[in-house]
Amino acid sequence: GDAVHSSWLELSASALRHNVAVFRALGGQGAPRALGVVLKGNAYGHGLAQVLPVVHGEVDLLYVIAPQDALKVREYERAQGLAPRQVLVLGAVAPDEAVVLAREGVDAVVADRGWADAAAVLRAAKLERPLRVHVHLDTGLGREGFTLEGLPTESRFLSESRDVLEVVGVLSHFANTEDVTEQGYALAQVDAFEKGLAFLSEQLAPVRPLQRHIAASAATLVLPRARYEALRVGISLYGLWPSPETRLSARLVLGEVPVLKPVLSWRCRSQVVKWLPAGSYVGYGCTYRCPEPTRIAVLPVGYYDGYPRLVSGKAHVLVNGRRCPVLGRVMMNHLIVDVTRATSDEHPVTATLMGRDGEESVPAESLAGWAQTIHYELVTRLGAHLKRTVV
Ligand code: PLP
Repeated sequence: GDAVHSSWLELSASALRHNVAVFRALGGQGAPRALGVVLKGNAYGHGLAQVLPVVHGEVDLLYVIAPQDALKVREYERAQGLAPRQVLVLGAVAPDEAVVLAREGVDAVVADRGWADAAAVLRAAKLERPLRVHVHLDTGLGREGFTLEGLPTESRFLSESRDVLEVVGVLSHFANTEDVTEQGYALAQVDAFEKGLAFLSEQLAPVRPLQRHIAASAATLVLPRARYEALRVGISLYGLWPSPETRLSARLVLGEVPVLKPVLSWRCRSQVVKWLPAGSYVGYGCTYRCPEPTRIAVLPVGYYDGYPRLVSGKAHVLVNGRRCPVLGRVMMNHLIVDVTRATSDEHPVTATLMGRDGEESVPAESLAGWAQTIHYELVTRLGAHLKRTVV
């Protein structure tokens, strides 16, 4: 099969379900609360098409970044004969896309006054139902949303657009929630959120209380008062901690550290395995020279696939549960590893680029660290072309 020529990603359905259960348990302490999974960035690089079937029946709410992803969810539900879940588009929506979302019963986020144009287009489309929208408040991230100062004037169009825009929720996003010992900024964001909410509730007098959501993974774990009616959990449903600080804070806040299970493993088969004599150079720029006879494996993985070139000289992969250093530079479609101590004459070998192999593992955090980035960037940059299988 194609596995010979490229690497593949294995997704553990049981790990994903385990993480969902962890967050269900966290959410269950107050009033009934919606557990939502964030599916941005091709489901954090895990693959929307592969993650959707595993989580659809397990969560209450699906957050996507773009309208076309929401439509993929609706297509999947139709194909499977499933009841439609609450789906919310977090990203920007063009007026014509707003019409499609209204027809599909997908929620959108109103984050600026530009939505007045969409309201006009929706009105002209003469839809049976208004579009369900959530108002985004910028409480301190400085990204999308109405600032508290701008809210009264900028959101005025909402009261005149009730026929086409039904405000059902209000959201915001934290700049910094990870460290429980430094939550001042996050708490100020919560205050701003409540103020904005009070203003909107008064101005719009919604029929039902608004669905409030501000907590992503970190706040869900370490800032319980920010959980409100819906959780917006991304990275940690994929089994990764937002940061080491969040893990430490979770112990303080929850009294114990929940076990999160990484969902993703990245593996490949070697393309070539061979001996190089002592003194041989490896890779572009001749940056590595073998001090002794070295058995190398050429792996069909490179920066095109999302294996960062910056890890050159720092990273290792796993073969037969042993660490094999990456030699020389990572190339576009290849990387070379030292398998001298991992195998004798085996060929091809299976290498684990990320994930567990026996007693050893290469966490996403390590690979990201070697590349001077964060695991969020690392996983979302995994090539969309890579084959993903649910195991
Ligand atoms: N909500 C919004 C608006 C986001 O942009 C993100 C991710 O960046 C999340 C929720 C999920 O965050 P996390 O992956 O840290 O749980």
